Amino acid sequence: MTAHRILLTGVFGPFGIKNKYAEGTGMQMELLNNQITRGQGIHSPRQSYWTFPLYLLAENISVPSTVLDFPSWRKFTSELKKGYTHVGINFIPANVYKAGRMARYIREHYPEIKIILGGYGTIIPDLKDIVPCDEICKGEGISWLRNYFDENPAAPIKHPAIFGPAYEYIYGVKGRPSGGIILPGVGCENGCNFCITTHQFNKCYVPFLKTGKEIYDACLKSKIKIGTSGFTIMDENFLKTPLRARQLLEEMARNNMPFVFDIFSSAEVIKQMGVDFLVRLGVRMVWIGVESKANSHEKTKDIDLKALIAELQSKGISVNASAMLFMEHHDKDSLPEDIDWVIGLGSDMIQFMNYTPLPTTTLSERLAREGRLKDMDYRHFHGQGELAFDHPHYKNPRDHFTILKKAFKKKYTTDGPGILNMASTIISGYREAVKDFIDRSSQGLAWNPETLRYEKTDNPVPDEFMLLRIKMMQKMAMNIRMILPASMVYSPNMRARRKARSVIKLYRESLGPLPFANRVLSGLLIISGLVETLRLAMARIRGGESIVRQPPSRRVEYPLSAVTIRHLHRKPVLITPRSTGESLAV
Ligand code: SF4
Repeated sequence: MTAHRILLTGVFGPFGIKNKYAEGTGMQMELLNNQITRGQGIHSPRQSYWTFPLYLLAENISVPSTVLDFPSWRKFTSELKKGYTHVGINFIPANVYKAGRMARYIREHYPEIKIILGGYGTIIPDLKDIVPCDEICKGEGISWLRNYFDENPAAPIKHPAIFGPAYEYIYGVKGRPSGGIILPGVGCENGCNFCITTHQFNKCYVPFLKTGKEIYDACLKSKIKIGTSGFTIMDENFLKTPLRARQLLEEMARNNMPFVFDIFSSAEVIKQMGVDFLVRLGVRMVWIGVESKANSHEKTKDIDLKALIAELQSKGISVNASAMLFMEHHDKDSLPEDIDWVIGLGSDMIQFMNYTPLPTTTLSERLAREGRLKDMDYRHFHGQGELAFDHPHYKNPRDHFTILKKAFKKKYTTDGPGILNMASTIISGYREAVKDFIDRSSQGLAWNPETLRYEKTDNPVPDEFMLLRIKMMQKMAMNIRMILPASMVYSPNMRARRKARSVIKLYRESLGPLPFANRVLSGLLIISGLVETLRLAMARIRGGESIVRQPPSRRVEYPLSAVTIRHLHRKPVLITPRSTGESLAV
């Protein structure tokens, strides 16, 4: 019998370019430029994220595997020559025709290979008619694959050290991605009617990392291998497991290791945990689903979102609010009102998405029962274009594009670039943290990990962990400061220019004059911003909405060899956790 060997691959590029397999708009391999800072021109940070689940899967099965991320068609077909018994293709619904082309090619040239389909694309009801396959992996993939290969599905999950973005550009300058990614679990219990995440996992949360200690260890592993202290936590509702978040803070405090996190969390759990907790935890940015002024979802009921967002920002936590357009109650009056309402919340950034009834959601099932689902091609299921259902007040597909695009524009012209807003939040938070620290010390207040509040104590001890946290905030402020001159020079209007000026002033007051080396770098950003402006103009003349960038391909074999580890990760970092005194190095 042939030994198993599996290729785990994403779909092939190019991405964000309309062709017979996928759309262009809404389909770049970028989150920010696609649906958050869309329409912000050169101010839009450009980042593309690797297909993280593939690495997690490969790390957690014994069968030898290869991860092929962002392959070109040529790389994909060449890879197949290397001899596989199985190919797993991960895709989203809008990329189903790419998956179809890959599967048909395998069937034609390697009929003995078993094809396994995974990812959110598996929600498509008639998937087997579009993509020939042997198996469809639904739900949580690690235990599914382990079961499939007769391995122990309950074996402990190993979390790989994963680099964040595949690329990063700001004002046209290519950065060196330095963030890490943590995948603590999948699914969400909240059960919002439109949400594919919650429905894919039967309205349950499936944890990979069950305790705060496990998350801390995963972060530490990444710090050792990648050298990063900042992580994006890819968990749809991270604070919904509050005990684990508390344990994570305790671990960091015990080890004096103030990691920094970008997280997703719903408003009701943020309220429950309290903003001071998020500050201590090291949350740099939180993504909150505010959806609509109608507050029809449990997660936002009776919460003053504007006050909550203002409090988060005042303490240095940037907020990305996500809102739904063309919900069923939206009419010619309430939709513009809702757009104004969400902009009025004053978050740093907004994700606008068109209400999309993805298959398997309760929204989709109800609309199907009511006969209101359109027979729309799956390639359009990306939330940035035509609605997939018959809306009572918006029948013309052109409206679905233009109103969405105008909403992004309005946010941009009202509040200026998202990157400027983040810089503003970071410096305000740093100043507030210093002031609060001094106030608390003089008032004898100390952090109570039970109540998650600062309380009066008879024996206050110096809050060393918060001092480390403040130093980390200062470092973040110094890093982002360099973009400010470019954000001012290329401001979309006077209002944004005034804002940039006042933020620059705040930085000067708080951190002193910009050091010479940083001034040079800021100048370079202005020059590259000019080049980027010209490139953007050319892209628009050619009919595009923005500059389309392609992520690099990456191929990783598992189990990892020492050579691969050295190639994947940067120089080893020597660190000494305070609690044990042991030095760790790879
Ligand atoms: S809170 Fe967010 S992740 Fe959870 S079900 Fe609602 S939309 Fe989905």
